[in-house]
Amino acid sequence: MRKVSRRAVVFGGMGALVAACSSENGDPDIRVVPGQREPGDHEEAATEPTPEPTPEPEDPTTVLQEGEWGGTHQEELLLPGTAWETGLIVRDSGISGPVVLVLGGVHGNEPGSWLGAEQMTAWEPARGTLLVAPYVNVHAIDAFERTLEELGDMNRLYPGDHASDLPMEQMAAEVLDVARAWEVDLLLDLHESWGFYAEYPDNAGYYAIGQTVTTGKGPLSPGFGESLANRVNQQFTEREQMIIRDGEHYRAPRVFDFNHPMSGRSSLAAGGYVGGLTPVLIEMGQENQPVERRTALQLRITRAALDMLEMA
Ligand SMILES: [Zn+2]
Repeated sequence: MRKVSRRAVVFGGMGALVAACSSENGDPDIRVVPGQREPGDHEEAATEPTPEPTPEPEDPTTVLQEGEWGGTHQEELLLPGTAWETGLIVRDSGISGPVVLVLGGVHGNEPGSWLGAEQMTAWEPARGTLLVAPYVNVHAIDAFERTLEELGDMNRLYPGDHASDLPMEQMAAEVLDVARAWEVDLLLDLHESWGFYAEYPDNAGYYAIGQTVTTGKGPLSPGFGESLANRVNQQFTEREQMIIRDGEHYRAPRVFDFNHPMSGRSSLAAGGYVGGLTPVLIEMGQENQPVERRTALQLRITRAALDMLEMA
């Protein structure tokens, strides 16, 4: 399988075909990629420097649509002109429909969130608009830390404040501005947690809420997240099953409470500040689950959300 993975990198966009074929015939030496290498070339490929392994697509989540797409692709910036500016990719189908905003990299030590989100920037929605900010907290990603003290923890700082000394409090305000300007229906906030929620039943903190879906306040609450979890669980393994957490505790905007650090100021509260917006928090567990798999699961669950909204 490692060999297929490396060849998927060599063939770039043909990766999905390579993986699909290999799983069918069990032969990692793929001979069906048109316009690329001849079958004998794999000897030569084996002597090339080995690139970083790329996650193997396990279902066709690398693209959303087949064939011609009539939409537009543009890149905007969040907090432009600051040291914390970061890209917001806008994929507008040109056909009226739901608007979905995906956030990756809110926390810098949760790589599956941004590795998944960066692949989503290539998706072409069938209707509506897909907005993706893959690297929300660029300095935390560079440092591979949850966040840095001087930046603030964005997921404890909603609704944000453009006048704040904390850059991530400014970013939270910026994200809500985007949600208002684009009339975003669904905010998918992609995260990772160390432990699996099901394996640490006494845990109430953020360090063991892996494999959970939580829906915050909003018009799609709470049914959307529940349906989403039920939908993907049909494809996920037993350990990967997404658990539906009750977002009620986090829905209403309220005063920050140190003993309940998620209360009121995580993205789950965002719907309390932006009419029509429903936030959904996706958490993948890191413990004994490779980043490639976490990335693939983020892609699958986001794809499933777009399917539910008839955007895929
Ligand atoms: Zn996180």
